[in-house]
Amino acid sequence: MNKGSIRKPDLIVVDNHTRPLVDAFQRRISYLRLSVTDRCDLRCTYCMPERMKFLPRREVLTLEELYELATGFIDRGVIKIRITGGEPLVRRDICDLFDALGQRLGHGLNELTLTTNATQLADHADRLARAGVKRINVSLDTLDRSRFAELTRRDALPQVLAGIAAAREAGMRVKLNAVALKGVNEDELPDLIAWGHAEGHDVTLIEVMPLGDVEEERLDQYLPLSDVRAQLEQCWTFSETDATTGGPARYMDIEETGGRLGLITPHTHNFCDGCNRLRVTATGQLYPCLGGAERVDLRAALRSDDPKTELADALSQAMHIKPERHHFRMDKRGADPHLPRHMSMTGG
Ligand code: SAM
Ligand code: SF4
Repeated sequence: MNKGSIRKPDLIVVDNHTRPLVDAFQRRISYLRLSVTDRCDLRCTYCMPERMKFLPRREVLTLEELYELATGFIDRGVIKIRITGGEPLVRRDICDLFDALGQRLGHGLNELTLTTNATQLADHADRLARAGVKRINVSLDTLDRSRFAELTRRDALPQVLAGIAAAREAGMRVKLNAVALKGVNEDELPDLIAWGHAEGHDVTLIEVMPLGDVEEERLDQYLPLSDVRAQLEQCWTFSETDATTGGPARYMDIEETGGRLGLITPHTHNFCDGCNRLRVTATGQLYPCLGGAERVDLRAALRSDDPKTELADALSQAMHIKPERHHFRMDKRGADPHLPRHMSMTGG
C-alpha cells in the first residue's frame, strides 16, 4: 500500500455511524488497540511457545482494511489508537498505515501510538515521528543480554537498545513496559526501573496473565506486584499520583529516581471500572475485554456488501456485550489457560 492509495471513507451522515460508543455500564469507549499482525521476531517465553503457529496471511486484514476500520472507530468517538501485535514493525509497509492515520490527528484523532519490542525501531523511528507518533511503549524485561536471549529466545538486546535510543533521538517519548517474572527478572526490577528513569523513560510493571498455552507453568512465572512494590518501598519513597490513562495502570512517582512507575495488576487489584478501550485482532475480531471470550467479527462486516452499516451495527453490538470486568485467575497449578488466545493475538 502506498500512502496515496488509501481510500478515504465517504462522508458519513447516518446517525448510527457517528453515535459515540458507550457500553452497557455507561463506560465511554475512546481508545482502540489495533493489532496489525500476529507475527513476531521474538518468542518471549511468557507470551508464546517457541514453535508458535502463525495465521495464514490471507486471514489478516489488509492495510486498507485496517485503515477503514480505524477511521470507522474515529467516527464513533475513538480519539486514541495504539497499533500493536504481534510485533507491529515486522509488518511490511506498516509505516504507510501510520502516515495515513497520522493525517487524522487533529481531525477526530488525538493520539496515535504503538507498542513495540523495538528490535526494528531504529529503522522506523524517524518516519513514525514524522507521521505524528509522539509517545511509544517499548517492552523490555531485562537489561542483561544473556537473560534477554533466554527470555525472548533471540539474542536481540543490542538492537532493542539502539531502537530505544533512535526513538528518543527522533523526539518520541518512550515508556518501558516490563512483565514481572518470578525467578527470571525479579532480582533486576529495581535496576531496570532506575536505568529507565535515568534515561528519562517512565516504567510500567505488568503482572503475567494466563493467556494462551506457553511451554512454562503460568503459576511459576507469576510474581504479584504487591510483593514487588513492598520491596521497592524499602529503598525508595513513593508518592501516589492521580495520573491515569483511563487504563489499568496505577502510577506513582519515585522521589529518589525522579521518575514515574506504573503498576498493572490484573490479579492483585481489579482495574475494570474505568475501562475505556476495545481491542481488535489482525483478523478483525473485536474483543471488548482482554480477559473475556466475547467477540464480534468486524472482518465480516468490512467485507460485506454494505461495510459502513455492518460495521456500525457490529460496533453497537460490541457495546452490548462488553463485560463488566475480567475474570483472570492465577491460583491453580496445571490449569488450562484462562483463554486459549495468546496476548500476541489480541494485541497487548
Ligand atoms: N510485540 C510488541 C511488544 O512486545 O511490545 C507488542 C505486542 S506484546 C503482545 C504487548 C505486551 O504484552 C508486551 O508488553 C508484552 O510484554 C505483554 N505480554 C505478552 N504476553 C503477556 C502475558 N501473558 N501476560 C502479561 N503481559 C504479556
Ligand atoms: Fe513478540 Fe511482544 Fe509476544 Fe514478545 S511479547 S513474543 S515481542 S508479541
